[in-house]
Amino acid sequence: MDGRRSGDLLLPNYVGGEFVTGGTSFAKVSPVTGETLLHVAEADQATVDAAVTAARAALRGPWGAMGEGERAAVLRRVADELERRFDDLVAAEVADTGKSVAQARTLDIPRGAANFRTFADIITATPTESFTTVTASGGRALNYAVRKPVGVVAIIVPWNLPLLLLTWKVAPALACGNAVVVKPSEETPSSATVLAEVMAAAGVPDGVFNLVHGFGPGSAGEALTRHPGVDAITFTGESATGSAIMRAAADGVKAVSFELGGKNAGLVFADADLDAAVEGSVRSSFTNGGQVCLCTERIYVQRPVFEEFAARLAKRAEELAFGWPSEPATMTMPLISAKHREKVLGHYELARAEGATVLAGGGVPVFGDDRDSGSYVQPTVLTGLGRHARTMREEIFGPVCHIAPFDDEDEAFALANDSEYGLAATVWTRDVGRAHRAGARLDAGLVWVNTWFLRDLRTPFGGVKASGVGREGGTHSLHFYSELTNVCVDLG
Ligand code: NAD
Repeated sequence: MDGRRSGDLLLPNYVGGEFVTGGTSFAKVSPVTGETLLHVAEADQATVDAAVTAARAALRGPWGAMGEGERAAVLRRVADELERRFDDLVAAEVADTGKSVAQARTLDIPRGAANFRTFADIITATPTESFTTVTASGGRALNYAVRKPVGVVAIIVPWNLPLLLLTWKVAPALACGNAVVVKPSEETPSSATVLAEVMAAAGVPDGVFNLVHGFGPGSAGEALTRHPGVDAITFTGESATGSAIMRAAADGVKAVSFELGGKNAGLVFADADLDAAVEGSVRSSFTNGGQVCLCTERIYVQRPVFEEFAARLAKRAEELAFGWPSEPATMTMPLISAKHREKVLGHYELARAEGATVLAGGGVPVFGDDRDSGSYVQPTVLTGLGRHARTMREEIFGPVCHIAPFDDEDEAFALANDSEYGLAATVWTRDVGRAHRAGARLDAGLVWVNTWFLRDLRTPFGGVKASGVGREGGTHSLHFYSELTNVCVDLG
């Protein structure tokens, strides 16, 4: 499971219950070795049209007539089938991303099944409201809300946690009775294709789940967002792409839900458990090669512990073990592509040009084997930059963080909030009052205290400022993926 596969494989689209190829295709390259892994059938306009038509037709079929309990049973069958295909999904995810087998086995793939089980539970347990209203004549009227699907939902996701992020949206969309057309990233087509096979095997009616492969502008992504047959768009990716999709969606006044980029801050107070803060910061900056929207790229440390924290974090960054994805000791991974590596290395150079001191990393590792043609960079710790440096403001999306000192709580909160983004913040402190003040005062959709990346799928997830529009998670997902019709009946 080290990302070596036959380059002859051609991944199909999945439309109306059929796997279809034809037309143009593109190559998917291994981030571990740079060799071609497989080819992917690119969905053209006609294929996207067919997928949207199939989704619309499915809403009029047996799927549209199912109650919540029946749909929940379908979702549970999908979760069972995902678990049956566990090893195939791990292999697909590892090959496409170069992440470690250990991470795929413990995080990415189990979360896929958990997403379906969670929303099966939520859709059966969430009542809609009902009120008895007094009429003008002193009689009574019954008001209640009927939950209905939005219709055809387009789901567009990135490459960093492919199955996890895709199923995070597919599961609530199907729980609410919608039909979906999904477009995974061109960099990670494999697990989505296995998911299509899972849908077929689990008996999800034809047309309820459709998969189109391709790129964004001028390809399947743009065709989907501009499509008049799409009722709502849910998207995870870069903030700039979110803007482009919002413009494309404006003509059809389509509902949008966006989970976008971040430039997340970590705050380490002098009263913190420093061991936990160092290890937590290693995780929050370097997990998944720093390619998680929730990763911390700016760490602010209270002055009395700054020197010790900086030395310990830099040492831990240097120690993070490179290895093949299948090796149990492997602690880091390549960036997704040569293009992304160029971008991240460009940021390392820019940071130096802006006056940063490099405390750890700052370059590329040398292996002396096939991985030298992959897209690895060293985990990197920087310091010495001011708030206006581009390195401090732009999302890098690699294994890199900048550390800077602060003196008091007000300054710490102001520094954390000094960003165009507002996705997540992490606070390390033993002061309970401060923990709650952080929750109230930090401009972020998620605030973690003495932990990072701990998720309960019932809680709201999303960002403020340029980090997103709306919240998904738990019943918040139901708000986006369903429409409520208020019915008022005069009981007289
Ligand atoms: P991206 O925006 O380049 O691409 C995401 C998806 O959108 C891909 O499937 C791509 O093909 C498609 N796309 C690109 N342009 C499009 C267009 N004009 N119209 C329609 N579709 C288009 O993002 P990426 O590089 O794949 O992922 C990294 C980004 O995702 C980072 O900014 C990261 O912070 C963000 N992200 C956010 C979250 C979150 O929950 N907030 C989670 C993961 C990743």
